[in-house]
Amino acid sequence: MAADGQAIAPNVHDAEPIPEAARAEIERLLTSGDLFRYTAPSDAPVALLEAEFAALLGSRYALAVSSCSAALFLALKALDLPKGAKVLIPAFTFAAVPSAVVHADCEPVLVEVGDNYRVDMADFAGKVPGAAAVLISHMRGHTSDMDAIMALCDAAGVPVVEDAAHSLGTVWGGRKIGTLGKAGCFSFQSYKLVNAGEGGILITDDPEVAARAIIMSGAYETNWKKHPGLANSCAHWQNKLPLYNLRMQNLSAAVIRPQLPLVAERVAKGRANHDHVAVRLNGSALLEVPPPLGPESRAPDSIQFNLVGGWSDADALRFQAAAKVRGVAVQVFGLSEGNARAFWNWQFLGEVPDLPKTRAMLMRACDVRLPVRLTGAELDYIAEAILEAVAEVRG
Ligand SMILES: *Cc1c(COP(=O)(O)O)cnc(C)c1O
Repeated sequence: MAADGQAIAPNVHDAEPIPEAARAEIERLLTSGDLFRYTAPSDAPVALLEAEFAALLGSRYALAVSSCSAALFLALKALDLPKGAKVLIPAFTFAAVPSAVVHADCEPVLVEVGDNYRVDMADFAGKVPGAAAVLISHMRGHTSDMDAIMALCDAAGVPVVEDAAHSLGTVWGGRKIGTLGKAGCFSFQSYKLVNAGEGGILITDDPEVAARAIIMSGAYETNWKKHPGLANSCAHWQNKLPLYNLRMQNLSAAVIRPQLPLVAERVAKGRANHDHVAVRLNGSALLEVPPPLGPESRAPDSIQFNLVGGWSDADALRFQAAAKVRGVAVQVFGLSEGNARAFWNWQFLGEVPDLPKTRAMLMRACDVRLPVRLTGAELDYIAEAILEAVAEVRG
């Protein structure tokens, strides 16, 4: 396989076609020029998306915005935290997450993450006192122990925001991820389950959080009247909050809406794909795919696994290269130059604390994309290439 691997390796980067139904709607919008969410008196595509997404998740309110990062920023601003407030975040996440905290004039406090990619609960419990809010990033769709996190935060009166960018369709103890905290934020960036190129959405059951986020997203003057059920709260906050203009436009909603009915199918396929590859990788004594937590039902479109059994940095790099020769991109988070998921690269934070558990995990944790559309043969190719690369490096 090595010699011609690149020619036949599955393409894990191209997106799936956008459902046909989007075309007619985009054509209609281009013809009318009605691209701004607040022009139509009612039923603008963005407003319809918000209603449909809230129904899908079972939340009271949804606010569609320009990205998940924008949703995280607005969620924190909507909590009305004092300047410089400490916000706990897992140290294993994407650089956009600490960035959203900084953008909201708060101070991110990094919490250790274990080698199962989930928040280290002992470190978390120690850091809750003194925190004004908690932003739980379900990184790569891995869910931390939300029962323990919510119990600690509820007891301390600390609000929780969920970064569910990569967790659309994940269920925890029968409840949808993104609905457990005060607010949940999702992404429609191209590498997520629903692809609009860019986009995000914030959900909440709290009318004050919803109203504040709506105003700050850019519902100037009385445009908030186009968000149902929030007249009193929005009227109260109008002109009292800054307008950050992070709105979604109608074309994005036209691309997203026909994908929502496909979410359940994509979740089921993604989980089956992941589990198929996981079984094969776990057959090697030198690889480990950490299992989900008990209450967790995942919705993966990538796989993470650890190099176990005494790997050196040099061997891990040789393994990455050997997989690449076979046409499969494996990224060891902590060993790829400038990786935005390695906390020591977040120089905009200034001095970052030493987090030995998270660092050790990142130095041996591997990341491989598994888009939902892959076939059984393509999944087997990827698993085989990884196992061959392990054998080549470790004998
Ligand atoms: C993609 C992602 C983000 C950022 O989402 P954008 O919509 O690109 O801003 C944040 N957190 C996680 C866990 C992500 O996967």
